[in-house]
Amino acid sequence: SIPLGFFGGIGAASKSGILIKGSNFLEALNDVKVVVFDKTGTLTKGQFNVTGIYPAEGKSESELLRVAAYAESHSNHPIAESIRAAYGESIAKEGILDYNEISGHGIAVTVDGKAVLAGNARLMEREGISYKVPGQSGTVVHIAIDKQYGGYLVIADEVKDDSLRAIQALKALGIRRTVMLTGDAASVAEAVGKQLGVDEVHAELLPQHKVEAIERLEGQKSAKEKIVFVGDGINDTPVLARADIGIAMGGLGSDAAIEAADIVIMTDEPSKIAVAIGIAKRTRAIVW
Ligand code: ADP
Ligand code: MG
Repeated sequence: SIPLGFFGGIGAASKSGILIKGSNFLEALNDVKVVVFDKTGTLTKGQFNVTGIYPAEGKSESELLRVAAYAESHSNHPIAESIRAAYGESIAKEGILDYNEISGHGIAVTVDGKAVLAGNARLMEREGISYKVPGQSGTVVHIAIDKQYGGYLVIADEVKDDSLRAIQALKALGIRRTVMLTGDAASVAEAVGKQLGVDEVHAELLPQHKVEAIERLEGQKSAKEKIVFVGDGINDTPVLARADIGIAMGGLGSDAAIEAADIVIMTDEPSKIAVAIGIAKRTRAIVW
């Protein structure tokens, strides 16, 4: 039978907005040595703003923004939402065909009879489009129209107010290592990592690379020590499922993420990870 203390711990967690799907996960939180975070939507707000529009020669800013918004019209990625918000007008969906979201890359779609690509440098390279390397830092969305380079948009995300506290609280609890994984550009990732004091940053990862990164970290610790992965579920559901303890940020998280996760944080505060570990430690003190 399960000791009563576990129910107390799970109940205390749920009062703090932390849903723990079983006493085994509460117990496992005691042995966490490494906490791995997704960046976008987890440590950052995941609410991008378009901060610059840089059309290629012969195109206007408004044309470029319109094509980008149409290409992104079916995506629920935070990048897509920011581009649609910057466009601000309604989108006529009839002209949008052959929609294809390529995870970790962007979108390939037909807009008004033209083949449009909207995504990162890796997408342009994959499709053989030569692109301009932006001078400014930020997440970049390149656009190509019928295999011709159309220019790029720069979008910026902000670190959550709570993220610095989240990393510091984990260190205070004796977590050995904090890691950030992201599909975003290295320049953006390193700036965020430095701002927050994350020990280790891995950027430009495809979703399967995030799974491999977790597997590598698992190879570097004893069987008893646990690894937590915290994500918002956009492109990282396989990672949530693979980690010893997968934690979904439920504020933004998809149903698939909530399903794949072992623990769900109902708010958008990453500092709740440290709260959960603290509850686990107090529960263990009561149970034994
Ligand atoms: P993260 O690891 O930060 O959560 P993702 O794995 O969701 O990021 O995406 C990685 C990268 O792929 C993004 O930084 C972006 O360059 C590109 N990308 C993904 N989805 C889109 C999209 N809908 N439009 C444009 N670019 C995208
Ligand atoms: Mg993500």
